[in-house]
Amino acid sequence: MNIGLVAHDTKKTLMQNLAIAYRGILSKHDLYATGTTGRLIEQVTNLTVHKYLAGHVGGEQQLATQIEQNLIDMVIFLRDPMSTKPNEPDVYNVIHLCDTYNIPFATNLATAELLIKALERGDLEWREAVRNEQ
Ligand code: PGA
Repeated sequence: MNIGLVAHDTKKTLMQNLAIAYRGILSKHDLYATGTTGRLIEQVTNLTVHKYLAGHVGGEQQLATQIEQNLIDMVIFLRDPMSTKPNEPDVYNVIHLCDTYNIPFATNLATAELLIKALERGDLEWREAVRNEQ
């Protein structure tokens, strides 16, 4: 499965800890992250991450494009709920596209852990059928 990963600055340590905790599961999948998030995950794990541009210079747009092409099977986007980002439209576009294409999408740790456990159980295998329909 192709997993999209993004963390706003106040959530980057949380994303690193999530990646450390679940690296055994995540290592069986292809990881795609905005630039800084991806680099920080690689710094603390032995995971390989396909890195987009940094979020504020187009990384979230690159993720959105991949979702539109049906190339992303699940997204964990640890958002900062307390502040508005200059590129907020890009953030909302990712949400919009996940809702449009029915892509599992987590914005907080509780749901992220549920999705990763579902991934491990094979609960997301229906995504392969959806991808093959195209
Ligand atoms: P970054 O992008 O991982 O490159 O920091 C995410 C964000 O927009 O904060």
